Amino acid sequence: MLRYLTVPVTAFQQNCSIVYDDATKQAAIIDPGGDVETLKAAAQELGVKIEQIWLTHTHIDHAGATATLARELGIPIVGPHPADQFWIDLLPQQSAMFGFPQAERFTPTRWLHDGDTVELAGYTLDVRHCPGHTPGHVVFHSREMKRAFVGDVLFAGSIGRTDFPQGDHATLIASITQRLWPMGDDTVFIPGHGPESTFGAERRSNPYVRGT
Ligand SMILES: [Zn+2]
Ligand SMILES: [Zn+2]
Repeated sequence: MLRYLTVPVTAFQQNCSIVYDDATKQAAIIDPGGDVETLKAAAQELGVKIEQIWLTHTHIDHAGATATLARELGIPIVGPHPADQFWIDLLPQQSAMFGFPQAERFTPTRWLHDGDTVELAGYTLDVRHCPGHTPGHVVFHSREMKRAFVGDVLFAGSIGRTDFPQGDHATLIASITQRLWPMGDDTVFIPGHGPESTFGAERRSNPYVRGT
């Protein structure tokens, strides 16, 4: 069975998730923004082996430790969508701007596109391209777990910022209503920051997307 543990990292308390198969102990890590030692300790505590990095988007708090972790563990970097290339190029500036440890640029082993899938221990997760917060933002959906890892697209009671370069509010709302809602009201989502919620609860009460 697939399970996951969410570990908040960096000063921004970004929800990095370690997704793992409890039978084989194979794991993927979603959005290793920083605090590499904390993440490695969490994996060790779980008794799992991190074999892949999956990225929703490449803001510093989500991707800052990607290059280091990929090199240390010798594992592939999967995602995000190629439209986020400029944010990867800006990682060193992002880290300087926010007072983070110096972040390195990297080249994803595999870019992701809408409709792609990623695999872990024989389980498949669906990839949806959800631009608006960043142009290359993707989300990972596990039908098996009824979970979606949505990065900074949607939060409990809020939505992602769209005031960055190539951010767009209408595009973000379209991503949420056309690509997240079809996953089902009872799907639990793990946002990039803050507590989990369900799509159904957000459709009822989130002021930005209520009734959509
Ligand atoms: Zn972000
Ligand atoms: Zn974030």
